[in-house]
Amino acid sequence: MGRIRLDALTRQFGDTTAVDAVSLDIEDGEFLALLGPSGCGKTTLLRMLAGLLPPTSGRILLDDADITHTPPRRRDLAMVFQSYALYPHLSVERNIGFPLRVRRIPKDVVRGRVAEVAAQLQLDTLLARRPKELSGGQRQRVALGRALVREPKAFLMDEPLSNLDAKLRTATRVELAALHRRLAATFVYVTHDQVEAMTMATRIALLDGGRLEQVGTPTEVYDEPASVFVASFLGAPPMNLIPGRLASTEQGLLRVEAPGVVAPLWPGRVPAREVILGIRPEHLTPVGEDAARDAVRIRAVVEAVENLGSEEVALCATGPAGAGPAGQVALRGPRPLRLAPGDPVTLTADPARLHLFDADSGRRLVWQGSATPADHPAAVVGRG
Ligand code: ATP
Repeated sequence: MGRIRLDALTRQFGDTTAVDAVSLDIEDGEFLALLGPSGCGKTTLLRMLAGLLPPTSGRILLDDADITHTPPRRRDLAMVFQSYALYPHLSVERNIGFPLRVRRIPKDVVRGRVAEVAAQLQLDTLLARRPKELSGGQRQRVALGRALVREPKAFLMDEPLSNLDAKLRTATRVELAALHRRLAATFVYVTHDQVEAMTMATRIALLDGGRLEQVGTPTEVYDEPASVFVASFLGAPPMNLIPGRLASTEQGLLRVEAPGVVAPLWPGRVPAREVILGIRPEHLTPVGEDAARDAVRIRAVVEAVENLGSEEVALCATGPAGAGPAGQVALRGPRPLRLAPGDPVTLTADPARLHLFDADSGRRLVWQGSATPADHPAAVVGRG
């Protein structure tokens, strides 16, 4: 079993709160990605889990045992570092077997266990080599092997793919996800790369400024971001965020308005308030000038078109014609979009795909009215 519970875990460095009261339950067998921008506290959190850094306050439980002050060696957790941290003078075989040898496990048991792990990681033909005779990907597998050989309750990984080139990173991503499925062990994986988190993790914990912003499956955090921060961190390009005003029309329809933007939503009445309207670039489509009057409409001028191979991204300046740009939106779609810089466009989106956030707090707004239209899962209004 490898169930980990973080209870209000906090770490301060002088005036900096690197990790701020993070509470999180990681189930046995989960692949949890700790995701966030540089400096958000990911590494500090992982180092506290590993026992390499004492928390300022809070607790860490492993299968209900309090390990907050247990030394790293006795935690039964294996750490895989970004730098691999291999012993340069030892062969692959001795590097992998190292954690067992220091525990004075009989030689033949170590040899058998190393052979098993090496076969699992396709390192069996490389056992006699030294780390400098290996490629980056192979070194990374040796580092993993050294963690695997101990059969720990959980694996802690700090950006283990960041030293690999793009092609190898993709291949290793697939291998790591397969390894996780095979081992059915708990993985806690630090990354600032949203693609790694989205493709491998069973759940993603997003950190910002040491605080936990949202925890959910990749689908949940992408489709229902809890805040403007999460919305703008995930997606390439990220979600378009348009400051606007939410109000009810005389006909009893909720509507968001911003310069160049009219977004009729669904029936309902609310006091007018400032919001941020969120629309993913892939949910915007160009329509003719004569778009239906009740459709979401964004008037814009194309500024640039980027060719991504199978898709294109058009960057557009929004705002009423002749009034100068009020903001920028990106739209992504199959190539060719048939748009060119300077083209005026009207963009639309399905109201069910729209997101609303509170303008002050940046938190997602969720519908709390009685007239919740069932076909509008993104229907919102009221505190989320
Ligand atoms: P990165 O992706 O760049 O590695 P991170 O999310 O892992 O970033 P941390 O390394 O955990 O972030 O750092 C979190 C905050 O704590 C940062 O503001 C950092 O400057 C600060 N910090 C980390 N370690 C120390 C330390 N030993 N002394 C002082 N401040 C520190």
